[in-house]
Amino acid sequence: MTSLVSADSVDVALSKRTILHGVSVAVERGEVLALVGPNGAGKSTLLATLAGDLRPEAGRVLFNGEPIESLRNKERAKRRGLLLQSNQVSFPFPVGHVVEMGRNPWSGTDDSERDEEFVSWAMDQVDVSHLRHRRFNELSGGERARVSLARVLAQDTDLLLLDEPTAALDLHHQNRVLGLIRQRAKDGRGVVVVAHDLSLAAALADRVGVLVDGRMLAVGTVQEVMKPELLSEAYQVPIHVLTGPEGLPIIVPTRQPS
Ligand code: ADP
Ligand code: MG
Repeated sequence: MTSLVSADSVDVALSKRTILHGVSVAVERGEVLALVGPNGAGKSTLLATLAGDLRPEAGRVLFNGEPIESLRNKERAKRRGLLLQSNQVSFPFPVGHVVEMGRNPWSGTDDSERDEEFVSWAMDQVDVSHLRHRRFNELSGGERARVSLARVLAQDTDLLLLDEPTAALDLHHQNRVLGLIRQRAKDGRGVVVVAHDLSLAAALADRVGVLVDGRMLAVGTVQEVMKPELLSEAYQVPIHVLTGPEGLPIIVPTRQPS
């Protein structure tokens, strides 16, 4: 089976510093892959590489088996949506406009007839329809995060690359986005999610990749990866893995009250 996207032993440099070292990972249709790891491990860099926005110095990235370099920007944008980390973009436009920007790759194609359908659907999914006429830069952080996610959903791509989509969200909206991401995978899309909250990552993911210092320490199922020894090594802090009432792992550091 051809993976939706795969990175094969990629080295990626930024400002002449090698950030990713021989990283390999593949994402299949119908699955959610969570990327976890400490600050600065290279998670965002790996997402940009899988998106085709950064070119590896060594190794290769394939979309559906095709080298990423063979796809033009607009073609790439029809295939993968990238949600950047916490509002690195701020638009002084109405929310509706921002979400409509997700449809740009489809302009001039037959699919553009469905622009409004996708925009309304995407806004509804993340509960921002009522904000449609508000200005994006006047929203709260969590509202902006949801609008940005709606923009990526409206793009209607087979692959979703989401950098901390739930970081700014309240518990209700975290759960809503969790359900939405699971549903996208059920519908046959592939999703890569960077998540800081390990319990959320465990609830969300089919497989988990742990990046440490630009290297993939482990990739495997939630059961294989969410183990106290492995996570304690990755984060350099003792970590407990408990079992929640739904049978899902709850992952917490040991905390010593002073
Ligand atoms: P993460 O998302 O896991 O926190 P990043 O992928 O953002 O990590 O960053 C990985 C490393 O690359 C960090 O050490 C960061 O300082 C460095 N880095 C990020 N962007 C640049 C850049 N433009 N130039 C040089 N180094 C960068
Ligand atoms: Mg990051």
